[in-house]
Amino acid sequence: TLGNRLQGVFDRLRGRGALSEADVSDALREVRVALLEADVALSVVKDITARVRERAVGQEVIRSIQPGQQVIKIVNDALVEALGGNDPGPRGISLEAAAPVAILMVGLQGSGKTTTSGKIALRLKGRERKKVLLASLDVHRPAAQLQLAQLAERAEVTSLPIIAGQTPLQIAERAMDLGRRELYDVVILDTAGRLSIDEALMAEVAAVKQAVTPHETLLVVDAMTGQDAVNTARIFNERVGVTGIVMTRVDGDARGGAALSMRAVTGAPIKLLGAGEKLDALEDFHPDRIANRILGMGDIVSLVERAAETIDQAEAEKLAARMQKGQFSLEDYAQQLKQIGKMGGMSGLMGMLPGVAKVKAQLQDANLDTGMLKRQAAIIGSMTVKERRQPEIIKASRKRRIAAGSGASVQEVNRLLKQFEDMRDMMKRMNKMGQKGMMRGGLA
Ligand code: GDP
Ligand code: MG
Repeated sequence: TLGNRLQGVFDRLRGRGALSEADVSDALREVRVALLEADVALSVVKDITARVRERAVGQEVIRSIQPGQQVIKIVNDALVEALGGNDPGPRGISLEAAAPVAILMVGLQGSGKTTTSGKIALRLKGRERKKVLLASLDVHRPAAQLQLAQLAERAEVTSLPIIAGQTPLQIAERAMDLGRRELYDVVILDTAGRLSIDEALMAEVAAVKQAVTPHETLLVVDAMTGQDAVNTARIFNERVGVTGIVMTRVDGDARGGAALSMRAVTGAPIKLLGAGEKLDALEDFHPDRIANRILGMGDIVSLVERAAETIDQAEAEKLAARMQKGQFSLEDYAQQLKQIGKMGGMSGLMGMLPGVAKVKAQLQDANLDTGMLKRQAAIIGSMTVKERRQPEIIKASRKRRIAAGSGASVQEVNRLLKQFEDMRDMMKRMNKMGQKGMMRGGLA
């Protein structure tokens, strides 16, 4: 299997100082196969491997983890990045426009446009309490408008009354009129598709787009389309313009490479995933999950995760050493906040120092609020290097500057400094008491 092949390469890489060009090339050959097998388009595969090579070659092999794991981590991170990154931010559908907000659904026939229209309507109605109107512009297939009307009924939203003989453009304009007159929040326009891209379809969709200027134009693609997906995405994007992508049939066994290709070719974010035929089978997009799926094989995925954990562990060990030498600075504290955030728990640094139960408990309480972790990190981010190393110099005017720079209040800055001092004092006391007794006995 691919997993074995990769493992073979990585066994050879084990235990060297830095990743050499040859090591990385060997590993990347296998990664390339994995990406192609996952249906990532060739041009995109080339981009990704080039990026990984650039990042990996010469990189110091982190103590205590295998170089191969490190390459996988780099590949994984590159995939996540190429898929839009894991930063939080608006990834769903944007409704930030004057009502009625038009959403235009485009894509090939059978990609899941009509089903997804119903799913989005259900979600906007339920989660966001929006008044949604569904309209089918598919005049080519006799039953298409009926199909959408039935979906609308199941989602308990309104669908535009069907009038025989109208053109897609006429239907779209009628839908927007009704939307305006009856104060709908959202009008979803479901277009017709063809089995393959053709000029008549593109002209039709482009004309509708020009007439209604939709706020979102969502390209719906089947995750199983693989290499063809790139072509489809490119042409739709060139001819119509796409603001987001919905990938359907992720409930099947497709490896998800299409997502990577789509994103690369259009630059548009993947906004939602269709994961079944039912109306509630609509999921938010998580780049890390798709990256895992593209890399394939659970063993590789857990390898990556273990590698990431080991890196944290190595960082934690270094930090612990600094703490014991009394060199703990606000920079270290910021590092620690990051770790806590990443692990979502207190298994890391403080856990390595027995006897700090009180601080540990405090941190555990604080953990419950990841927003607080982020705010504290932002506060430290607004400090100068000197302030981080010598917090004593942070007096009133500096506090005000730091607060303003991080969007926090002066009280929050004070609270952070107090927490940091408490922790540093505790460490000093531990050092005075002597590490041996301390580590064995514990404080609490
Ligand atoms: P359209 O031609 O683009 O409008 O595609 P449809 O919405 O009519 O969907 C075509 C078929 O795919 C229907 O049988 C749907 O039930 C099915 N379908 C749509 N989305 C999904 C999905 O996410 N998963 C699965 N398994 N089937 C889907
Ligand atoms: Mg349809």
